[in-house]
This record gives sequence, structure tokens and C-alpha cells, in this order.
Amino acid sequence: MHGKRVTDPQLRVWLAVKADKVEVVPAPGIDVQLIAYPQDIEKIIAFAAGATVKGHMAGKLSDITKEYSDKFISKILAADHGSVLEHGLFTFDLRNVSRALTHQLVRHRMASYTSESQHYIKYDRLMVVVPMGLSVLQSRDFLQSCINAFKAYRALIDQGYPSFEARAVLPNATACRIVVSMNARSLYNFFDLRCCNRNTWEIKVLAYRMLEECAGAAPMLFSLAGPRCMRLGFCPEGKLSCGAVPAKAMGKPVLTWAMDNPPDLKSYVRKGVFFDAESHIACIKRNGGNQE
Ligand SMILES: Cc1cc2nc3c(=O)[nH]c(=O)nc-3n(C[C@H](O)[C@H](O)[C@H](O)COP(=O)(O)OP(=O)(O)OC[C@H]3O[C@@H](n4cnc5c(N)ncnc54)[C@H](O)[C@@H]3O)c2cc1C
Repeated sequence: MHGKRVTDPQLRVWLAVKADKVEVVPAPGIDVQLIAYPQDIEKIIAFAAGATVKGHMAGKLSDITKEYSDKFISKILAADHGSVLEHGLFTFDLRNVSRALTHQLVRHRMASYTSESQHYIKYDRLMVVVPMGLSVLQSRDFLQSCINAFKAYRALIDQGYPSFEARAVLPNATACRIVVSMNARSLYNFFDLRCCNRNTWEIKVLAYRMLEECAGAAPMLFSLAGPRCMRLGFCPEGKLSCGAVPAKAMGKPVLTWAMDNPPDLKSYVRKGVFFDAESHIACIKRNGGNQE
């Protein structure tokens, strides 16, 4: 019924007012960079964990071997002793994400944020994030409303209105940049909630990109990170479940199931994480359109 859809989760465009016309040109996709983290993070966490057990306390960080840290970290994860995961921060530079996304992101309070200011920036061109799943007609309407908003913004500025007040007319789709720092415990909570299919595609894509970066930096530490259904062994979302994982635990104690089925990014895709428009829309319809 809707024909061809926007299926590119990366789709962003620049809007630039030239005379009375607005040019629409392709813009770069989401950019997720892990810019800093303690290189010895797994050793630091294992060192701290060792301090709890008499006889296991290493004298120096350099005494910690990979074998020792792998063993301790897997025990911490299995026991869900989250406070030990709080040592050390992971800092991300996130670019070309929508203001709608940054509003969702900052709901995660166990983090530090610094975002691009719409107070000090005067846009002479605007990047907007096009939601996935719109039909061709809908995406035309969507872009037209962004163009109208941007024209209104420029007109207010031309009339001498300050840019930090004119920004009120800009769409939620306006792209921006945000720097975020979280510890591994908070990241686990973020991945638990945001890798879930209930989310908007944009924050889900962001969560998986951040998870990829974390898993590359500290593979053992993030070995159980992902949507919480994968860790729990069941979906706690009730009626809003996407159906990829059954609602009830799979006949095994939760942690045993998780240790036997360590999350793996590729297997998520196999097991039903939706990155295509049709499945995403079907999932939204199934759970009554209830998405943040
Ligand atoms: C699919 C989805 C839909 C959503 N829909 C909505 C919505 O419709 N409306 C809406 O408002 N939000 C919505 N949210 C946001 C959600 O309610 C949370 O605000 C967000 O996910 C942050 O989670 P958090 O509080 O666990 O994270 P954080 O704020 O990072 O907190 C981490 C953990 O710290 C502890 N903690 C933090 N602050 C406190 C505190 N003050 N007191 C006690 N313990 C604390 C909790 O254990 C918490 O889980 C949605 C989230 C998702 C994933």
C-alpha cells in the first residue's frame, strides 16, 4: 500500500536555503567514536574485585594477567556485582544524531553529557535525520515540513530575532553532536534497554554501534552486554514484546542460560533484531505504536 520505503537507517540530508529555494543534499550518516577509555580497564576491574577476597589481592596492576582478569570478570558478570564495573569511564563522540535521540539519551542519568549548543550556533544549513520506514510520499511530506521549519527559522533571524530563540521552530529531526561518558555498569543498563526492538531505530542503531566499540575495547567486560532479553533468557516487556525471545525463562536459571548463550552481535541479527523497515514497522504496529 505504501510502496517503496526509506530503508536506510543512515539517511540524513542537508537543507540549505539559497535565495528563496532550499537545496536538499545527502549528508553523512551517524558517526560513533569511542574516543577514550582506560586501556587497562579489564585489569582495573579485576584488581578492584580481587581486593574483596583475602589472598587474591594483587600488589600492583601490572601483576594482573589476562587469565586472572578474564576469570574475575566472568565471575563478577555471573554474580551481577555491578558496582565493581563502575571503575573507569568510556567516552563517546556521537555525531549526526537527532535532537529526538539526544533527548532519549540524556534520560540515562548515570552518565555525563556535553552537547552541541543551539544557543550559540546560527544554522545557515541544517542537517535532518530522516526516520526509517517512511513511504516515498511520507518522506516528501516529512522533508517539506523540515524545509518550512528551517525557512521560518531563517526568516526570524533575518528579522533580527536571536538564533537562540528562533531555534524553537526547528524540528526534532535536527542533527547534532553530543559527547557522552558512561561507566561499564551504566553502559550495561543502556544496552539492556536500548538494544531492545521496542526502541526507535535510531537509538537502537546507536546502541549497537556503541556496543560494537565497547566489545572491541574490552571484549570480556562486555561479553554479556546486549538487549536484556538475551541476558535474562526471557522478554520482560509483556504485551509490548517483539516476540524474538519468549516471555518466560527457557527452563533454566537465568544466569545459567546467559552464560551458555553469550551474546554475540551477529547472532542478535539472526535472532530477530530488526534493522529493516518492514519488520520495524510490523513491530511498532504489534505493540500498538508504543515507542519512545
Ligand atoms: C523502549 C523504551 C520506551 C520508553 N518510553 C518512555 C516514555 O514513554 N516516557 C518516559 O518518560 N521515558 C521513557 N523511556 C525512558 C525510561 O523510562 C528511562 O528513563 C531510560 O531508559 C533511562 O533508564 P534508567 O533510569 O534505567 O537509566 P539511568 O538514569 O542511567 O539510571 C540507571 C539506574 O540507576 C538507578 N537510578 C537512577 N536514578 C535513580 C533514582 N533517582 N532513584 C533510584 N534509582 C535510580 C536505577 O537502578 C536505574 O536503572 C523509555 C525507555 C525505553 C527503553
